[in-house]
Amino acid sequence: MGVGFEREDYQFLKELGLSPHNLGCFSGGIWKGNGPIITSVNPSDNKAIATVTEASLQDYEGSLNACVSARKMWMLTPAPKRGEIVRQIGDALRAKLSLLGRLLSLEMGKILAEGIGEVQEVIDMCDYAVGLSRQLNGSILPSERPNHAMMEVWNPLGIVGVITAFNFPCAVLGWNACIALVCGNCVVWKGAPSTPLVSIATTRLIAEVLERNGLPGAIFTCVCGGAEIGDAIAKDTRIPLVSFTGSTKVGQLVRNNVNARHGKTLLELSGNNAIIVMEDANLTLAVRSVLFAAVGTAGQRCTTCRRLIVHEKVYDEMVERLLKAYSQVKAGNPLEEGTLLGPLHSPLSKSSFENGIKAIKSQGGRILTGGLVMEREGNYVEPTVVEISHDAPIVREELFSPVLYVFKFQTLDEAIEMNNSVPQGLSSSIFTRNPETIFKWIGPTGSDCGIVNVNIPTNGAEIGGAFGGEKATGGGREAGSDSWKQYMHRATCTINYGSDLPLAQGINFGG
Ligand code: NAD
Repeated sequence: MGVGFEREDYQFLKELGLSPHNLGCFSGGIWKGNGPIITSVNPSDNKAIATVTEASLQDYEGSLNACVSARKMWMLTPAPKRGEIVRQIGDALRAKLSLLGRLLSLEMGKILAEGIGEVQEVIDMCDYAVGLSRQLNGSILPSERPNHAMMEVWNPLGIVGVITAFNFPCAVLGWNACIALVCGNCVVWKGAPSTPLVSIATTRLIAEVLERNGLPGAIFTCVCGGAEIGDAIAKDTRIPLVSFTGSTKVGQLVRNNVNARHGKTLLELSGNNAIIVMEDANLTLAVRSVLFAAVGTAGQRCTTCRRLIVHEKVYDEMVERLLKAYSQVKAGNPLEEGTLLGPLHSPLSKSSFENGIKAIKSQGGRILTGGLVMEREGNYVEPTVVEISHDAPIVREELFSPVLYVFKFQTLDEAIEMNNSVPQGLSSSIFTRNPETIFKWIGPTGSDCGIVNVNIPTNGAEIGGAFGGEKATGGGREAGSDSWKQYMHRATCTINYGSDLPLAQGINFGG
């Protein structure tokens, strides 16, 4: 198929250094590509935007050799100086914020405000990492031995592999790379095969900063590719840490491959997030939040609200108000102002929505609104609300589209049990004004998720906190708090500054 690159509304792509055909491997400071040629497609019309030559396995091998040569120099660069490079990357992103946000919206299909918001998140991560570069502190601990000092010292791992998903083609790179870089690691990034233009445009900005500062390009590597390249990263003993974001199914594979070589993983996998609405909740706030969390990004966030658990006393009112709000959601071109709902990312996502609806119906689900593919070009589906038993098998799965299940409950214990009853454990939220309920919810017998909110949606996490989930969501934590520790190697160092070895007293060594 011919590419639409020369379309008038695609002209901004040139300002991001993109062309009708692009090389998809930034290796040792040079752009190359000897792998398969793939097409980047606009999800709102399924037409080609541009093509990309992905990295071959040989390209990958060359990239890793270059990383190995560059890593010592970067590890030995003082952390605040590494922070200065990340600060400049933040500035480079700031200068292209709206262009890169527009590309994100075009290639992924999320609405423009979300595309720009995602790039802003990477900029915020850069700012955060700059400060962090002066705070990678270890500790001094009391030793039980005389004239001995004991401390914990943090050093870089060397090379960090980052594999990311299509739905956050830029932010997840930022959560990982900003921290990994200030911690002194070279980064090897493989984005999703369906968002290669975002990978290339983002890498271009980073590459320019490295070049301007006379640093080796191999500090940051981008290898566009699919499962084969991802598999090579997972199995590569030169990469001590692989940070993987994607489905639980592929994450499990990656975990096995990295474990088999005794490497470390940081896994950010599928979610199946719930909002509980108590009888004392502010329903206006709850309705707004559920709409934002269930329909935003067309239900393709890892933190999308997929299950709504409502107290029986407010169930009818909550559902009625929610359906009214759903009827006002405007679907359209994600780049146009006023659009609230863009397309699903691919025809494959559209068919898994259709299969999901079939499964819902066969498992006794009742569609309250939506349930259909829209009759227009692109991958548009209707935002859908379903009444179904909370233990129907389909409810345990992450259907990656705007489908919300609603359930009724009587007691808080019952609601918490429903929240915790799925295999995944990413995000959760409760709407209530009762402090007793709040503290039970966030306490030992409350939500079992990594993100436990009150009176806000399941999505929209701030970068200052550690982000991630439990159980089938993988257990990883990214972005803020002490997540940086995962990107470093901790050594416990005991130093004897005296002339005696207390443990060896009584033994005559001569001399
Ligand atoms: P996916 O699992 O299909 O792909 C993710 C990445 O893995 C892609 O880059 C893909 O090319 C790569 N990959 C595929 N096979 C591989 C293999 N054998 N070895 C190594 N890498 C391989 O996921 P997706 O469809 O791109 O993204 C959607 C999923 O990601 C959802 O489940 C969503 O919840 C999850 N996600 C989670 C978070 C989080 O923070 N928890 C964030 C974003 C997305």
